[in-house]
Amino acid sequence: MAFTIATTVDEALERLADGARPVAGGTDLVVGARQGKVPLPHDLVAIDRVDELLTIGQDDHGARIGAGVTHDRLLSNPLIVGDYTALADGAALIGSPATRHVGTIGGNVMNGSPAMDTGAPLVVLGARIELRSATTTRLVDPLELWTGPGTTSARTDELCTACLLPALPARTGSAYVRLEFRRAMEIAVVGAAALVRLDESGSVLDLHIALTAVAPTIMAVEGTEVLMGRTVDDNLTDQVAALASEQASPISDLRAGDRYRRHTVGVMARRAVQAAAQRAQGTMIDVPVNRAIGIGAAR
Ligand SMILES: Cc1cc2nc3c(=O)[nH]c(=O)nc-3n(C[C@H](O)[C@H](O)[C@H](O)COP(=O)(O)OP(=O)(O)OC[C@H]3O[C@@H](n4cnc5c(N)ncnc54)[C@H](O)[C@@H]3O)c2cc1C
Repeated sequence: MAFTIATTVDEALERLADGARPVAGGTDLVVGARQGKVPLPHDLVAIDRVDELLTIGQDDHGARIGAGVTHDRLLSNPLIVGDYTALADGAALIGSPATRHVGTIGGNVMNGSPAMDTGAPLVVLGARIELRSATTTRLVDPLELWTGPGTTSARTDELCTACLLPALPARTGSAYVRLEFRRAMEIAVVGAAALVRLDESGSVLDLHIALTAVAPTIMAVEGTEVLMGRTVDDNLTDQVAALASEQASPISDLRAGDRYRRHTVGVMARRAVQAAAQRAQGTMIDVPVNRAIGIGAAR
């Protein structure tokens, strides 16, 4: 077995070109191997000491989150918590403090689970994923990156180097809500992220919804254009819930049946839109929204 610790992106890319697999926090890759799901790759390159991947930057165009930024660091960043709040809601729900301390946004995105908690927030926030190889750099829509449970369209010589988020206009709010049966060490039964932009009178100018754990990949809800110009009231959120439930294609497994998932994802979408609209109006709702609205069994 070969194990290299890269200190620059170029060094990591050279190792990937030679067939190595990247490992960041190892909370999917190493934990999965220990549980006997997939054996550890024979050739690994650790990327958690590559400084270039560890920063969160901002310019007029928006934010750049290095792929090696941990969930814990997302949560302590005022830009992420203040502006890109759905992402903070998602990061706050991941695993335990230990998992959030080493697990990274790049690892979450590239692991490609349909239950990933940063995925739906990234979709509604309009993120692009930066993929670099030794010879190319490209930006990919996350919905085109995820191709199935645990699979992506990235080539094996490509490293996810960053998640890019556009600057958000005024009166925009976002939120991510997930159904969970207990408050920690739980993956989403279902989840929904929403972004809402309002005009000065409180009418909807923009509304995006994405769903977690109800399809082979994170999915966007279509047909929200019909909600433009309306106020966020019960009629609108009923329509949101119906759109989400109709478009979901969940499976049944040990944790929940498909009919239960289809119904509850509508409930999560409704709550995400309500919370995003309140944030767009300037109401403070603590991160994560889940705790603020009492979802999840008490400790
Ligand atoms: C106890 C526990 C609880 C968890 N709870 C949750 C939860 O609630 N919600 C949730 O979404 N996840 C959860 N997870 C899963 C995991 O913690 C997250 O997906 C985490 O973000 C993975 O990041 P990582 O850096 O540890 O990835 P790693 O395990 O290092 O890598 C994961 C995969 O991505 C690849 N990879 C990593 N970084 C890159 C990169 N920059 N470019 C290209 N490929 C890359 C690796 O090769 C590997 O295939 C949990 C895990 C554990 C162990």
